[in-house]
Amino acid sequence: MTRIIFLGPPGAGKGTQAKILADHWGVPHISTGDILREAIKEQTPLGVKAKSYVDSGQLVPDLLVQDMVEERLQRADTTSGWILDGFPRTVSQAAFLDNLLQKINLDGVMVINLDVPDDVVVGRLLERGRKDDSEEIIRHRLEVYRSETTPLIDYYRDRKQLIVIDGNKSPQSVTSNLKDLIVSC
Ligand code: ADP
Repeated sequence: MTRIIFLGPPGAGKGTQAKILADHWGVPHISTGDILREAIKEQTPLGVKAKSYVDSGQLVPDLLVQDMVEERLQRADTTSGWILDGFPRTVSQAAFLDNLLQKINLDGVMVINLDVPDDVVVGRLLERGRKDDSEEIIRHRLEVYRSETTPLIDYYRDRKQLIVIDGNKSPQSVTSNLKDLIVSC
């Protein structure tokens, strides 16, 4: 059973690595950013509510994202596991996820912190050039990450669920380190 949460700043390579590992293990890659961008494109009620937050690099309110994740984690394709990318992003989302997993009788989730210095992620994101990847919005997303999401590193370390991986290496070597570490746990 593979259940993995990816933490790490924007541009750390969470999406890239999560996709590769999800294909490798045959489990869904669940990216809250991807789901939100799709909802915005389709102009669903969720997308309409989320748009201004995503465009400006703010966090979408917890309740909206939590409902979305709850629905997604109950779909049939999640029975053999999943890789969560972009959730949880706040301590309150993490507490919500703990409750949800208890409710559906799941434990043994591993948390990967993909560690990359700020100057490296800013460079990577500027090259990527997504709509919310202007320098000002990137800096803002990094601030939000530092204030809202880094407390989760201690949260999961205290629960002995945390694995730290150096993300400042080639994508191939990060993938191989991830595979080695996750298999040996
Ligand atoms: P990145 O990791 O590069 O910031 P994501 O695709 O993970 O990119 O997220 C893009 C945007 O989607 C975030 O800036 C935020 O507005 C929104 N978002 C994604 N996940 C969450 C979440 N768990 N809680 C609140 N907002 C979220």
